[in-house]
Amino acid sequence: IEFQDLNIEKNILKAIEEMGFEAPTPIQSQALPKLYEGKDIIGQAQTGTGKTAAFGIPMIEKVNQKDKSVQILILTPTRELSMQVADELRKFAKYLPETRSLAIYGGQPIERQIKALKQGVQIVVGTPGRIIDHIRRKTLKLDKVIGVVLDEADQMLDMGFLEDIETILDTTPKDRQTAMFSATMPREIENIGKKYLKSPEKIKV
Ligand code: AMP
Repeated sequence: IEFQDLNIEKNILKAIEEMGFEAPTPIQSQALPKLYEGKDIIGQAQTGTGKTAAFGIPMIEKVNQKDKSVQILILTPTRELSMQVADELRKFAKYLPETRSLAIYGGQPIERQIKALKQGVQIVVGTPGRIIDHIRRKTLKLDKVIGVVLDEADQMLDMGFLEDIETILDTTPKDRQTAMFSATMPREIENIGKKYLKSPEKIKV
């Protein structure tokens, strides 16, 4: 299977070709069609498998560029991963200049993030603690969210973020599409899947 067969929007296809992506990785060829169909997924995949593109490309395509509110929320365990994911999403959206991604994480002055959020971003990638902080301050509104990704979910649980993740998910609309990725599948991850995902399809690579 090739990227051209996956119904990827032409502006994104052009960007990933320029990034040197030649063929989809296994997680990409499995996850992309399911996410385009609107399904929730649970993907068991390590870093380095190309999972960022697997969830990032369909989530970028869900964005209504004319609407400047936050529409996609991606939770990651660390600031480094948040920055890395946001950077990669910006590359995929190179030819969609109205689609804006922002990384939000602890350790960076919150005022700077508030200012950036006010400019209008549709995709927020962040760590759970700081996202909660913004929700409480009402500087981040999640009522227009249509897509959520939990990236490295097992790591987030190991770091004690379960309660924050649940609070955040409870703050987003129920009719959202949700994708969860985890390197391991302990009981707690299965439980999140049962509680917050709709008939999720499992993918393992
Ligand atoms: P990830 O697992 O998402 O962190 O991706 C690992 C690295 O592989 C990143 O540098 C991606 O840009 C790169 N990558 C992802 N998908 C592909 C692909 N289909 N072809 C070549 N490189 C890729």
